[in-house]
Amino acid sequence: MKGYFGKLLKIDLTSGKTEEISVSDADQKKYIGGSTLAAKLIYDYVKPDMDPLSPENPIVFATGPFTGSNVPMVSRAAICGISPGTGLWGEATTGGKFPMRLKGTGYDGILITGKAKQPVYIYVSEGAVEIRDAAHLWGNGDIYDTQEKIKAEIDTKASVACIGAGGENLIHYANVMNDEGRAAGRCGMGALMGSKNLKALVVSGTQKTKIAYPASLKKVISEARDTIRSNAYTQAYKLYGTNFYMDLAMRLGDAPAKYFTKSVFPAAKIHGPAFRERYRMGNYACAGCPIGCGRIIKDFTPNAATNIKQVDGPEYETVGAFGPLCMNFDMDAIVMANHLCNAHGIDTISAGVSIAFAMHLYEKDILTKKDAGMEIAWGNADTILQLVNMIIRQEGIGALLSKGVKQMAAELGVDPEEAAHVKGLEFPMHDPRAYQGAALAYAVGPRGACHLKGAFYSLDAPGNEVGLSLGITFTDKNNPAQKGALTAKILSFCELYNSFTLCQFSPLPADMIAQALYDVTGMKCKPMDLLTFGERSLNLKRAINNKLGVTRADDHIPDIARKALSEGGTAGIEPDMDLMLKEFYTVSSWDWDTGKPNQEKLMELGLEDVAIDLYDLKN
Ligand code: SF4
Repeated sequence: MKGYFGKLLKIDLTSGKTEEISVSDADQKKYIGGSTLAAKLIYDYVKPDMDPLSPENPIVFATGPFTGSNVPMVSRAAICGISPGTGLWGEATTGGKFPMRLKGTGYDGILITGKAKQPVYIYVSEGAVEIRDAAHLWGNGDIYDTQEKIKAEIDTKASVACIGAGGENLIHYANVMNDEGRAAGRCGMGALMGSKNLKALVVSGTQKTKIAYPASLKKVISEARDTIRSNAYTQAYKLYGTNFYMDLAMRLGDAPAKYFTKSVFPAAKIHGPAFRERYRMGNYACAGCPIGCGRIIKDFTPNAATNIKQVDGPEYETVGAFGPLCMNFDMDAIVMANHLCNAHGIDTISAGVSIAFAMHLYEKDILTKKDAGMEIAWGNADTILQLVNMIIRQEGIGALLSKGVKQMAAELGVDPEEAAHVKGLEFPMHDPRAYQGAALAYAVGPRGACHLKGAFYSLDAPGNEVGLSLGITFTDKNNPAQKGALTAKILSFCELYNSFTLCQFSPLPADMIAQALYDVTGMKCKPMDLLTFGERSLNLKRAINNKLGVTRADDHIPDIARKALSEGGTAGIEPDMDLMLKEFYTVSSWDWDTGKPNQEKLMELGLEDVAIDLYDLKN
């Protein structure tokens, strides 16, 4: 198979041993790459009572067949393991130059097991692996300092994927950060690195895989660039980043406010144009991307003691989480909260939702000033920044907030229906009431309340024809009828992004992806086959979650994010979960009693080993 090196690097931090693992052509054809190949590797390590912070939980950094090629918007990598935040399947994705350089080492991915005796970082270059002491970096400086120091020690052309205080302190929603402010967020992969005493994975290299049909690929790349340039959303991403969506999100009722209890707020105070008016802004892009959705805010000095004169700008999710969700419309505070989370490597969504939950409980007098040691009033910018700092340092009430809303509710004795999460992952800034299908996708998706796996807000948007290219047609977003079948397709389709390691904002239609796959790897597939790849990925990850104890009861949207609001774009609307779940389970061949994919479905998808294991067929 072209497009792959056909091997992964395995590093055991307990023994310090390294080895190459070969990946067969058959497995490449079946699992493609990214998070799906990672799931295949991780499956065998999963034990029902596994502690995600134990050395037995591996972490996998994986690229896809397109990574390192000139296909646009493919410099992405998946970082996967069992999530320290949810205890279930965890995956994060990141961009920048790290993915390209990871593949440039000559490996399709890296699997890390065990735990080092003291802090280390791993340096992988073409043909060499070193495990280096990182004691001088642990607890010393933020992620920007760490990246600079490591590059100075090794190679300025390396990419450093590292953790900050978030990962070191095992915060449930700690990120891995690379190429300055690129974040692999959600699911706490930073804590997984921290549990291994692994401060950073550093990669450098320029190796390229062979391309099956270079002339034909050149043509597809040119067409892909034209498609991206002419896409209606490209200019919006360039100008405003993802926060171009804030106004529309508010009107649709998709942007939650006041901890999911409101959906109407003054969006113009914090939307994309407002940021452009207030700050001098720049863009940055992942390698080979003609869009450049990354934001830089110039002339922003976080505090008098630093020489920093610019920071990474917040994107839509972050603006939503520290903005309307906390009823805060102070842009400086949102920028600063984003900077603190990035600098210390924690997830802005989970941090924002946890702070908003504290505000909600404070208003109800469930969390008192005496318990919290401070006032936690809605919309107070100073309080938000103070809480972010306390979460990072694990100080006072910050230690509780760092565990996320599920644990907060449990420890405070609050009704679990008040905790805004699915399977332990906090809801992102897309309200489940806005699209019935999105609510279902949150409930059954592989990593809990994840906006990237059931992206109705983007696929069911005017002018977006990506779904149409796979025969996916959208019906009334407020009508639950036939949303089970539609969501099954959307989930399978969204699985492709982290498996092929394509950017989620890529507007490339299915026939173009299939053609590029053929030209890069030589693997023939029809556009509709892409959905089968996605379905296999979804079922494999579901089986991992089943092994870890997930049943249908966990496919649940809590009342706080489901009960109808009285105002705004979703007024009076409640997702009909029972109706949609029944249809989804039937269409997907999942067993209603156990919540597992049925044996025949697993066999049909070529997951025979999983079926044997999950149904204990050996005995
Ligand atoms: S759109 Fe943004 S995240 Fe996607 S590849 Fe381009 S710069 Fe990276």
